[in-house]
Amino acid sequence: MKLTIRSFDLPLRYTFTISYDSRDVQPTMIVELEQNGHKGYGEATSNPYYGFTIESMTAALEGIRTQIEATELEKPEDFWAQMQPHLSNNPFALCALDLAANDLYGKMQGQPLYKLWGLSTDHNPLTNYTIGIDTIENMVKKLKEMPWPLYKIKLGTKEDVAIIKELRRHTDAVFRVDANCAWGVEETIENAKQLKPLGVEFIEQPMRADDMDGMKKVYQQSVLPLIADESCITESDVAKCVGHFHGVNVKLVKCGGLTPARRMLKEARELGLKTMVGCMTESTVGISAIAQLLPMLDYVDMDGPLLISKDIARGITIDNGKVYYSSVNGTGAELIA
Ligand SMILES: [Mg+2]
Repeated sequence: MKLTIRSFDLPLRYTFTISYDSRDVQPTMIVELEQNGHKGYGEATSNPYYGFTIESMTAALEGIRTQIEATELEKPEDFWAQMQPHLSNNPFALCALDLAANDLYGKMQGQPLYKLWGLSTDHNPLTNYTIGIDTIENMVKKLKEMPWPLYKIKLGTKEDVAIIKELRRHTDAVFRVDANCAWGVEETIENAKQLKPLGVEFIEQPMRADDMDGMKKVYQQSVLPLIADESCITESDVAKCVGHFHGVNVKLVKCGGLTPARRMLKEARELGLKTMVGCMTESTVGISAIAQLLPMLDYVDMDGPLLISKDIARGITIDNGKVYYSSVNGTGAELIA
């Protein structure tokens, strides 16, 4: 395979603010793998919370360029198992490589990945549209600019319940909220009581990632389901979420790509947990990979391309929450930048 690494600054439609971060541009790394005239694409964004930069991801892949280029891709799972020991410190780089390998494999097989995996898309969930933290006035403005059936509202402010009360005045859409680790035990239990009658379906990661004792208490008392994000990073975390969360939000960059994500989602379902996949603020390259997993999911947050003002790829499209697949095989991703 031939490896090409590119980086882009994705311009954001709005300054994106969550409880621990704020930014106007999202740097992203695109990996291209080429074999037999087919090109597969993968993506990983930089991320201050997890500590990965374009430089560190690129260096990790450059360090194993010889091994990658000496490999003839057969099964993406086998390729992941070969590469993982070299990239165990950099799951983001591993993710971009794994997505490219899966996309390339699908394109070589002449099928979209979900078909190769034997999945039916008849009951795919709708994706939410995310509203980042802002003044209440601006959050209302963002909601009104994007009429949508399902919103994810970022919380972690001094006025979280007031935000949801105000947004509820302007739409009947379903809300889910994400506190990104900002709440405490009593606060979460109390907020759940107040948010449930306001049409909130679940709370994502209310408390610090390592506060599993606190989560146990909250799990027993919360009137709303709780979904792990920062507390569920990699394959070994899924089982730990039982009795602490009602579901898990798997992200491709956190776990190292589609290959481990599929195993995590299967395990989560077997353990009785709700399944969700979330995105970073990435382009249509990464989002088209997520779309292949939709049949395995109860919930999905894959609005990345809607949050950037200029995309770098074609692939899946999203209309009013519904995801439409591309006619291109693999993930369907094609670079246009
Ligand atoms: Mg989250």
